[in-house]
Amino acid sequence: DEAWTEGLRWKLHDPARQEEVNWRMSLLGELDQAIDHGEVWLAYQPQLDIKSGRIVGAEALARWTHPQKGPISPSEFVAAAEANGRIGKLTDFVLDRAISSGAAINRRGIDFQVAVNLSARLLVDRNLLTRVEAMLKAHGLAPARLTLELTETASLQDAESGLATLGAMRDLGVKIAIDDYGTGLSTLEYLKKIPASEIKIDQSFVKSMRVNRSDLIMVQSTIALAHSLGRTVVAEGVEDQQCLDDLRQLRCDVAQGFAIGRPMGVRELVQRLQIRTARRAA
Ligand code: C2E
Ligand code: MG
Ligand code: MG
Ligand code: MG
Repeated sequence: DEAWTEGLRWKLHDPARQEEVNWRMSLLGELDQAIDHGEVWLAYQPQLDIKSGRIVGAEALARWTHPQKGPISPSEFVAAAEANGRIGKLTDFVLDRAISSGAAINRRGIDFQVAVNLSARLLVDRNLLTRVEAMLKAHGLAPARLTLELTETASLQDAESGLATLGAMRDLGVKIAIDDYGTGLSTLEYLKKIPASEIKIDQSFVKSMRVNRSDLIMVQSTIALAHSLGRTVVAEGVEDQQCLDDLRQLRCDVAQGFAIGRPMGVRELVQRLQIRTARRAA
């Protein structure tokens, strides 16, 4: 990727940045092997339907526990891998694991939506649809139980093929969400073009809407806009009960954040879902 290489070249002149660049480059070389060695795993962060108070799904978030370096954040390795065309193996791994867990949870009789992050630039891959379809079939997950959270949607703007893949995904029944809405180069045009059923308001607006009036207006107007377009709204970064109450007042549909649950292992997630189901049955 040219922009990334350009940025890298620039950074090489800055000794303070040299270490960071070395770090990222060494990680990149190790990522595929790390997947094979079982060092990469998925954490799941629950999503709460605000009206019913039910956990309706979870977002799968990549985690890398390096044997020497310890836990590495996805913001350290996902962006670099994407920019270097090294994201393919990680994407397939995450999709496969998430679809498998999503299917297992639904088999327990719990209605459950599993969300996976996908960089919009990967949509030019013509085989992606075929692979997703095969994974859904292999694990027995209904397409409508999978949500693809699109990040970096700006890179999709002129890409006809990307939009074609998205259209085919939607036709298959897979749900599409626009992630980190309000940040980056979000335009109303792609909001119109992308066949998304869900909009995720970026946590930077949600976290500060009580203290920053323009952030509150941003959240309010996004909810209004999304609802007029018939889309579901998810608020990210819901860190306390007050925020959740405010979002309920604003008629937001779904909440995700530390107040509902931190990203957790699949066993912990299943436990949490079962406690809820048992309570409802009692
Ligand atoms: P994202 O998709 O916007 O995911 C939400 C991020 O916010 C996660 O960080 C999550 O742990 C964090 N978060 C959730 N609730 C709260 C909260 O209440 N307060 C605060 N302060 N933070 C909260 P994480 O896991 O570090 O992931 C960062 C980003 O890395 C993700 O942002 C996503 O864009 C990317 N990412 C993660 N896994 C994957 C993956 O498998 N594939 C791709 N392409 N990207 C991924
Ligand atoms: Mg996401
Ligand atoms: Mg997000
Ligand atoms: Mg984000």
